[in-house]
Amino acid sequence: MRPLRFDNRFARELPADPSTAPGRRQVVGALYSHVQPAPVAAPRLLAWSPECAAVLGWTEDDVRAPRFAEVMGGNGLLEGMQPIAANYGGHQFGQWAGQLGDGRAITLGETVNARGERWELQLKGAGPTPYSRTADGRAVLRSSVREYLCSEAMHHLGVPTTRALCLVGTGEQVVRDMFYDGHPREEPGAIVCRVAPSFIRFGNFELPYWRDDHALLAQLVDFTIRRDFPHLAGDADPIDDTVRARWFAEVAERTATMVAHWMRVGFVHGVMNTDNMSILGLTIDYGPYGWIDDFDPDWTPNTTDAHGRRYRFGHQPQVAYWNLTRLAGALTPLFATQDPLHEGLERYERTYVGAHRANVAAKLGLAACADDDLRLMQALCALLKAAEADMTIFFRALADADPGSPSLATFDEAFYDAGKRAAHAEAFAAWLRDYAARVRSDARAPAERRAAMLRANPRYVLRNYLAQQAIDRAEDGDTAGIDELLDVMRRPYDDQPGRERFAAKRPDWARERAGCSMLSCSS
Ligand code: AMP
Ligand code: MG
Repeated sequence: MRPLRFDNRFARELPADPSTAPGRRQVVGALYSHVQPAPVAAPRLLAWSPECAAVLGWTEDDVRAPRFAEVMGGNGLLEGMQPIAANYGGHQFGQWAGQLGDGRAITLGETVNARGERWELQLKGAGPTPYSRTADGRAVLRSSVREYLCSEAMHHLGVPTTRALCLVGTGEQVVRDMFYDGHPREEPGAIVCRVAPSFIRFGNFELPYWRDDHALLAQLVDFTIRRDFPHLAGDADPIDDTVRARWFAEVAERTATMVAHWMRVGFVHGVMNTDNMSILGLTIDYGPYGWIDDFDPDWTPNTTDAHGRRYRFGHQPQVAYWNLTRLAGALTPLFATQDPLHEGLERYERTYVGAHRANVAAKLGLAACADDDLRLMQALCALLKAAEADMTIFFRALADADPGSPSLATFDEAFYDAGKRAAHAEAFAAWLRDYAARVRSDARAPAERRAAMLRANPRYVLRNYLAQQAIDRAEDGDTAGIDELLDVMRRPYDDQPGRERFAAKRPDWARERAGCSMLSCSS
C-alpha cells in the first residue's frame, strides 16, 4: 500500500483529554481524546469508491492490499495515523443535550494529498470511545451501506457532502432494536471510512460555550478559520472580530447552499441536530435520511421524529436557520456586539432565497426566476402533493413537455394513484397551459431549456427502496447490488439505457416497509 502523508493538525494544535483510560466520561477543558479503534474478528472489504480513493492518491492495488481492509476495519494503523475522538455537544430535537462527541467515529488522521488538499479519514463503527455514552461504538451493515452509498451519490449529484472511501464488514454481530420496540436482534457489523476536509460540527463550538470555557471556544474558532477557511485568515495574527464575522457569514452561506441542494434533489436528512451540522456546509451523518418519492413537504423517514416531524422535508431550510442561531448564540462571547452574528444570519436568509429562486428557475427551465414564477412553482408543488405525484419523475418529464400543446400523458409514470391523478387532471392541464405560456415568453431556445432542466433535475436518486434492496442482498452475502446502485448514481443526470428500473417510482410493497419509508436512529 502506497503510504499517505499525514499532518494531524487538530490533534497537534488543540488541547487533548489527559486521560486515555477506557470508559465513558465527561471530558472538560479538551477538544478530543486519544483513542484506539477496537480490533474486529474478520475485516473484509465489501465495497469501495474509486473516485474517493483517487482523491487520496490510492488506486485499486492499494485498496485490494490485505492491509487496507485491516486498517479500515480498525485492526491496524498506517504510519502517521493518530486516532482521536472529537468532543462536541449539540441540540437534539430542539433541546440542549450536553456532551455528545464521537461515540463511534474515530478519526485516523489528516492526510494531505499531492495537490495539497487536506482530507481527514474517519472510521464510523470502530468501537467505543469516552463519548459512547450507553452505546457500543459499533455500526450495523444496513446503516453502513446507506451511509456509504448516499455519501457518494450526493457527491455525484453535486451536493456538498462528506465522502465515503470504503465499506468493511467486521465479521462480528451487533445487537440492535431497530424500532426501539423491545425486539432486539443480531445484525452483521460494518465500518465505513468517511473522508472530508473537516468533521467539525456546530456542536464542537456549542460545548465549550455551554461550559463557559470561552478561551477554549476562541481557540477552536481560530483553529477552524486557519485550517478550514485559510482564505479568510490570510496573515491575520491574532484573528480579529472582522475575520471571525466573515467566517460566521461564510458558514451561514455554505449551510444555505447545502440545504437548497437538498430541496432541489428531494433529500431529507432526517436528524438535523446541531451535532450533525458540518461547519463546512457538508451533508454529514447519514442516518435515517430519505428521498422524496411522491412529493410531500411534510414527509420524514425518521420514525424517531414521527410525532413532531421537526425534520420533515419542507422544514429543512427553517431548521438550518434555527441551527445557525444556536451556533451564533455559542459565538456571542467572542464578539463585542451581536451585530456581526445578526448579519451572518441575514446572509443565510439572502443566500437561501437566492438559491431557492435559482432552483425554481433551473427546475422549470427558465432563464431567471421572476416573482410570478415563485407562485407558478408553489402551485405545482401543491398539485404534486394533492395528486401524489413522484417529484423526481415529474420534474424530469417536465423537460419533455411540449410548450406548443402540453399533455398530462407525458407524466403518466409519475402518478401513484389513478384516482388522484384523475381528480387533479384538469388542474394539471391548467397548470401546464400556464407553464407553456411562461416558457414561450422566455428568451431561451428549447434545446437550451431542456439541457438546463436535465442538469438540475436528476433522473436517478438513491430511492429508499433501492438502497434497501442492495442491503437485503448484502445481508445475504452478495455485495454486487451495492456496486451496481453506486454505478447508476455515478451519472444521475444522464439517461442510462437498460437501467430504467432504477428510475422507476417506488413499488407498492415498499410504501410502508421498514428501511424503505420508515427508519429510526438505531444504527
Ligand atoms: P447521531 O444521532 O448518529 O448523530 O448520534 C448522536 C450521538 O450518539 C453521537 O454522539 C454519536 O456518537 C452517539 N452514538 C450513536 N450511535 C452510537 C453507537 N452505536 N455507539 C456509541 N455512540 C453512538
Ligand atoms: Mg451525529
